[in-house]
Amino acid sequence: MTTSELYPAKWWRLNEKGRVLCELCPRYCVLGEGKRGFCFVRKNVGGELKTSAYGKPLGFGVDPIEKKPLNHFLPGTPILSFGTAGCNLGCQYCQNWTSSKSENDQAYSRRAAPEEIVELAKREGCPSIAYTYNDPVVFGEFVIDVAKRASAEDIRSVMVTNGYIAERAREDVFADIDAANVDLKAFSDDFYKRLALGSLAPVLETLEWLRRETDAWIELTTLLIPGENDDEDELRRMTDWIGERLGAETPIHFTAFHPSFKMLDTPPTPVETVTNARQIALDAGLKHAYVGNVASQEGATTYCASCGAALLARNWRNVRFVNLEGDTCGACGAKLAGVFA
Ligand code: SF4
Repeated sequence: MTTSELYPAKWWRLNEKGRVLCELCPRYCVLGEGKRGFCFVRKNVGGELKTSAYGKPLGFGVDPIEKKPLNHFLPGTPILSFGTAGCNLGCQYCQNWTSSKSENDQAYSRRAAPEEIVELAKREGCPSIAYTYNDPVVFGEFVIDVAKRASAEDIRSVMVTNGYIAERAREDVFADIDAANVDLKAFSDDFYKRLALGSLAPVLETLEWLRRETDAWIELTTLLIPGENDDEDELRRMTDWIGERLGAETPIHFTAFHPSFKMLDTPPTPVETVTNARQIALDAGLKHAYVGNVASQEGATTYCASCGAALLARNWRNVRFVNLEGDTCGACGAKLAGVFA
């Protein structure tokens, strides 16, 4: 990264040894002169923290919002999606490692101002913008500016994130965020340490904080990896925790792993593992549990939590409104949790 491409970073201070301490995520990197953080995109330049991710998307996509995945937030609408280089976790199975493990200049990013991104969303007919692909925490300064601009134009903002963000930064980064899909990778710290090079507790803290302190709509995703995070007891503890701490109407998506990055020798997740996890969530009292990356009509359908009627039927990314009137079940009149307009 050249100095001219750097943008002043927020959330840092000098520590007692005069080194830069980044306070954006729970990794709290300490950076000597010229050094960059674990995420690759934050660097100590002359005793100040700079980011190379600001205004540097790696490209844009218009995705069905179900692909984020979000099933209860503006279903059936397209969402303008982008990410940058860099990531603050080190998942050994990352499906996007060519950009998450690179600097912006290595990954052929382009320049885009917040207003250009909002204009692009409008031009593409997208009522929302997703900060996604890599983890948007590492480009938090840019998220803030795009989301603020988007909010002023009635465009919603969605974080697709690992939730690995420090207390000092989260209020700023989530200030104008309308929805989040948070990747709850496992319910064991050992998994986070070995396979994501992070830790579980900060993610749980972020989730509880989001529920308690913000109005953002939250859905969760857990990618099930055979032998690593698919233990039934662990899934029971996880889904119990979700029901107690986040509420039974918090949707969860269980998705299937496919060999990737440094875990090419681990087999793909069997369909039964994913459908079994969904059943465990339902048995724990969660109202909306889904499966992803596998064919399952039942596991892709949204049902009324009150009478069980099918409300939204999905065929991969295509959504059919079966029995939903606004946010209300056409069969019994109960409200469906989520954001529908
Ligand atoms: S955001 Fe990047 S530089 Fe800052 S603590 Fe996290 S990994 Fe380190």
